[in-house]
Amino acid sequence: MGDCLFCSIAGGKTDTEILHETEDLVVFRDINPHAPVHLLIVPKKHIRSINDLRPEDLEIVSKLIYTAKEMAGRMKINESGYRLFFNVEKGGGQVIFHLHLHMIGGW
Ligand code: 5GP
Ligand code: ZN
Repeated sequence: MGDCLFCSIAGGKTDTEILHETEDLVVFRDINPHAPVHLLIVPKKHIRSINDLRPEDLEIVSKLIYTAKEMAGRMKINESGYRLFFNVEKGGGQVIFHLHLHMIGGW
C-alpha cells in the first residue's frame, strides 16, 4: 500500500511521534485533535475500513480496543472517561482509508 499515509506512519517512515508500538499496532496523536487527548490506534496491517474486516482480523481488533484501555490509563483519562470510535467509509466521516480507532477524552 505504497501511498497509504497510515502505512507510512506505522512503518516509521514519517517524523510522527509514536507513543506506543507492538508487532501489530502503533499509537500516535491525531494531528487535528478534537479533544485534549485524541489518539489514533492503528494496526500495522493495511485494512481499508471496518467493512473490510475478515475473521482473521478479530484478534487485532481486540488488541486495538485493549490498547485504548491501556493508553487511557497512561494518559490519565481512564477515570474521567473517554470515547472510542471508528469512522466507516465516506458517509461515516472516514478520510484516511486505513483502519484506525479514535480515542478522545481529557475534557
Ligand atoms: P478519519 O476521519 O479517517 O476517521 O480520521 C483520520 C484522522 O487522521 C483525522 O482525525 C485526522 O486529523 C488525522 N490525520 C490525518 N493526517 C494525519 C497525519 O499526517 N498525522 C496524524 N498524526 N494524524 C493525521
Ligand atoms: Zn495503510
